[in-house]
Amino acid sequence: MSPSRVLVLNSGSSSVKYQLLDMRDSSRLATGLVERIGEQTSRLRHTALTTGETREHNGPIADHQAALKTVAEELARDGLGLDSPELAAIGHRVVHGGMFFTEPTVVDDDVLAEIERLIPVAPLHNPANLTGIRTAMALRPDLPQVAVFDTAFHTTMPESAARYAIDTRIADRYRVRRYGFHGTSHAYVSRATAKLLGRAPEDVNVIVLHLGNGASASAVRGGRCVDTSMGLTPLEGLVMGTRSGDLDPAVIFHLARVGGMSMDEIDTLLNKRSGLFGLCGDNDMREIQRRIDEGDEEAQLAFDIYIHRLKKYIGAYFAVLGRVDAIAFTAGVGENAAAVRAAAVAGLEGLGPAVDDGLNAVRGDAPRLISPASARVAVAVVPTDEELEIARQTYALVGKDK
Ligand code: ADP
Repeated sequence: MSPSRVLVLNSGSSSVKYQLLDMRDSSRLATGLVERIGEQTSRLRHTALTTGETREHNGPIADHQAALKTVAEELARDGLGLDSPELAAIGHRVVHGGMFFTEPTVVDDDVLAEIERLIPVAPLHNPANLTGIRTAMALRPDLPQVAVFDTAFHTTMPESAARYAIDTRIADRYRVRRYGFHGTSHAYVSRATAKLLGRAPEDVNVIVLHLGNGASASAVRGGRCVDTSMGLTPLEGLVMGTRSGDLDPAVIFHLARVGGMSMDEIDTLLNKRSGLFGLCGDNDMREIQRRIDEGDEEAQLAFDIYIHRLKKYIGAYFAVLGRVDAIAFTAGVGENAAAVRAAAVAGLEGLGPAVDDGLNAVRGDAPRLISPASARVAVAVVPTDEELEIARQTYALVGKDK
């Protein structure tokens, strides 16, 4: 039997998330997370879905190499080791692929060099992604390693959506343009939404709202992305957990000139101390809703600003797409916060979408419609599965090579 397992690795700066899948039936064999790498209090939580057993390790894990070695040992304890002939490939999430990587790509030295060249536009993410790939290559040099880029789905955006209105020569010299992120999720969710509607992705126009800690919206026409809210970096667009999203760029000059803040301070302010957290001190939507229920005005205003921005993007993407078949909510907030979904769609009935309060209140893991049958535009909750999408793309590529 040909190898059918794919290990998916999502390497962050101090964490590694992983899943081992069997692509014969897309089932999960194991999943886990290593957190706080490089600290004394590192933790690995591993679940073997084959047995249902969960194991936890607490104690220092010095670096990504040590983290991956521990993951490999855990997998081996369940008979799922990385040396297994059944492992077909390792799929890596890579955040920034620039304009160069439009598809999942088998990693070689040139690919590594290009991901490295993109570090200036993805300083928080690409270095960790690279470390993960290099570590995995050292562990299994003979195995195909596939990079799946968060930006790839957005490379179909027309120049009119991808360009900023600045001097073209400067933009080209410094590769300043809108790349978009969360692409694996937008691709998966737009396709799953078409399936939920019982139609082919090519026939369906969808607005996807990926609302997690990071958040982005995309306009998908017939399965291809035509606009998205994140830009050169994941800072642009919606109000997020700790990121500001859109703002007048002159705010930055003002804070530097009048506030005397350094570029690094402003960077930290906008990426880590803004968004919901900056507005009300909390970035978890559950906590914000709890405070709103208690009559907290600061939390209410943060919620209102979040919803106002979301609505503006929904409206903009109606204009970009011309015809919209569905709005799909996904990720932590989108999948769980019924109040956010209801508020985002409230008042848009004239454009076609509506939310049925009863359907919206039902919780579940399956893709589902929350609009009444009479709505001209469907509204859906479609749980995202970036790991499965990375595994699928990896397996499709490695299968093609054979
Ligand atoms: P990321 O992958 O960007 O870290 P997730 O997609 O996991 O984020 O989303 C995390 C966010 O989801 C949390 O910060 C929290 O605000 C929100 N969330 C999770 N569960 C709920 C819930 N039951 N109700 C409201 N919000 C929730």
